[in-house]
Amino acid sequence: MTTILERLSRVVESHVPVQVLDAASKTIAAEVDADSCSIFLKESDSPGLHLRSGFGHLAQGEVLKSAARAVAKEALDQMRPARAEAPPDSLLAVPMVLRGRPLGAIVAHAPAHSFSAEQERTLCAIAAHMVGVVESARFIEAVDNEDAAERYAGVHTDAGEPPGELVLQGTPASPGIAIGAAVFRRAFPRELARRDVSFLGKEPERQRVRDGFEKARNDIGKLQAAATSDLGEDQALIFSSHLMLLNDPVLLSRVEEGVDRGKTAAGAIEAAIDEFEGRLRGVRDPYIQERVEDLEDLCSRILGHLMVSKSQSPLLAQVVLSPRIAPSLVMEIKTRGAAGIVAETGSATSHGALLARSLGVPAVTGAPDVMRSVLAGDAVIVDGTTGRVVVRPSPESLAEYQQQAQDVERRRTEFIRYREHPPETADGVRIRLQANVALGVDIALAKENRADGIGLYRTEFPFIVREGFPTRDEQVEIYRKAYDSFPGGPITFRLLDLAGDKFVPTTGVGASASAFHGYRSIRVLYDYPHLLRDQVQAFAIAAGDRPLRILIPMVSSLDDVSRIRLMIESAIGELSGVVAQRQPQLGAMIEVPAAVELAADLAAAVDFLSIGTNDLIQYALVVDREDSRMTSPRDAYHPAILRMLQRTISAVHSEGKEVCVCGEMAARPDLAAFLVAIGVDALSVSPRAIPELKQSLAAVHVKPLERASVHILACQNATEIEAALRACMDDLPKAHIAPHGDR
Ligand code: PEP
Ligand code: MG
Repeated sequence: MTTILERLSRVVESHVPVQVLDAASKTIAAEVDADSCSIFLKESDSPGLHLRSGFGHLAQGEVLKSAARAVAKEALDQMRPARAEAPPDSLLAVPMVLRGRPLGAIVAHAPAHSFSAEQERTLCAIAAHMVGVVESARFIEAVDNEDAAERYAGVHTDAGEPPGELVLQGTPASPGIAIGAAVFRRAFPRELARRDVSFLGKEPERQRVRDGFEKARNDIGKLQAAATSDLGEDQALIFSSHLMLLNDPVLLSRVEEGVDRGKTAAGAIEAAIDEFEGRLRGVRDPYIQERVEDLEDLCSRILGHLMVSKSQSPLLAQVVLSPRIAPSLVMEIKTRGAAGIVAETGSATSHGALLARSLGVPAVTGAPDVMRSVLAGDAVIVDGTTGRVVVRPSPESLAEYQQQAQDVERRRTEFIRYREHPPETADGVRIRLQANVALGVDIALAKENRADGIGLYRTEFPFIVREGFPTRDEQVEIYRKAYDSFPGGPITFRLLDLAGDKFVPTTGVGASASAFHGYRSIRVLYDYPHLLRDQVQAFAIAAGDRPLRILIPMVSSLDDVSRIRLMIESAIGELSGVVAQRQPQLGAMIEVPAAVELAADLAAAVDFLSIGTNDLIQYALVVDREDSRMTSPRDAYHPAILRMLQRTISAVHSEGKEVCVCGEMAARPDLAAFLVAIGVDALSVSPRAIPELKQSLAAVHVKPLERASVHILACQNATEIEAALRACMDDLPKAHIAPHGDR
């Protein structure tokens, strides 16, 4: 049985773009048992809605059309489904919202029956998927419209002889070594296509065009499958704009005109896309402008197939350079198969960096001036462990790093042998070592590495890698996978923690110039309670009768806990059957200084606590996670931070509750050992870090570290603390335990 997502994806694949929305309307009507269905879209510069496409008589009859427009407007204004039931007609409208930005509404019409609650939910799910398709359709329209803009005059600079080796020091963001050719999110040196003179004749070149398009289509199929398995959810529509472009007769005819004028297939494709990019750059809509990258990507992909033998650089892998490391970029890079990432800004705790670690893509952030110092096609080495970026490496440097890359791989296999080992120190202290997860790959790895459950489930990523919010039912499917891997739990779901760098767009929910400070996380949920309701209901349904733990992020007062508790209770109370009786365990995150002060009171009010040191460091030391000029790996050794942690742990224990540390510092062997020494109950770390952490903890004696902790906490600065900790670790008798199975 195919899913609606697959059916919509087939619609996109098998129609020319101008027909896609009409064909989608027909599929949607069938899905919700409607006689007709229409899509109304908001005009960017007028308040009204216009009928963009439709199937059935709803699109024709004037009276019905105006009733449908009114109900569509109501749905969009209120951002929730709306109905108009005047027997014998019944209309159901659901809004389409792109990350908080109202796009339009889908209206279904049934003359003979009312729509059921189930049909309403289905239509909402469809609307979430249609957001991307609608935006792609608008984008293709802009591309195809010759009058949309002045032709863009591309400037192609001749950079002359490239300078020699250059070493940049950035922040290590995701370990490992990547060696590849530099790309700026566009992979192909397009001047090669412009210079291509190998014209074989009109028909052979037309055939090459068709081959290039076909191969690009196949690539996209594979990328969709890869994205689906990494994210652990269906991603059938994430490349809808690429697929629509490949079906666009306007693009194809422009390419064929080029061939008719004597251009090679590559040259004609490049010229047509260059022309289209020019048009898009003239369109005022910022969303359409963002899509220039889709065109560039598609162009690179086709040219890569057409010019493979002539253009191949000795380095096949690609290193992507970008001004910042947004989570969406990392996802995109991973699905496109790039080897490494270098970003000019960002720190090791930027969410993009966390995601790169999840996906095992080596990354360096905060690499100064990287965008100006590197030319496309330059060889680049990314050392994500030290933060070094070597541009245009000498043969010696290249050989050295190739050797290091092999060593990293060898060490990784060594760590993997520790998977089976229990997380235990040399003097027998058993540590609860849990996993921080965000994607499907994390959950699989957490299981492979024998994590003691999921200490932090960051639930934001499905919300930010797609165009629309996932529906409740889709969320249920996603969360259920965690229970499939960890049937007995514990699984700690964190409520949606939007904003900061986890909310990229310039409009919509979470938008704020300084989103890390102020309008983020539960404060956004207070304004959008339906997001919390759907998510909590999805947690409860996924859990069924299994243990359910919900963690509240960014708590800064006791009122936050009581307010969220009420919202959770009311969301669960709306469910029916046994899940409506659920009383989840409730936890609070300690990640702002106010929560440290209130730790004992918060502990009394909830069932468990979790310390988010990434944000705690940011807010306590006033260092923006996204600004590498301010952050330093040494921040985690700051005496104020370690003393805050120690105070929090003892305050929580005084209330008889347990506390976990789930920030990145918990994955550093020396700090992890110290946290254990000062009494933390659990550590929750990236699943990739688990084997290495097990190995290092197995070599540590906690008792002497416990005695040294008073002295360490009394140190005056981070340098002293780091040194004291290192000395202490060096002094500690090391035990060399062979991994489980070797003994
Ligand atoms: C933290 O702030 O330490 C944390 C674990 O949450 P996040 O990194 O997702 O903000
Ligand atoms: Mg946080």
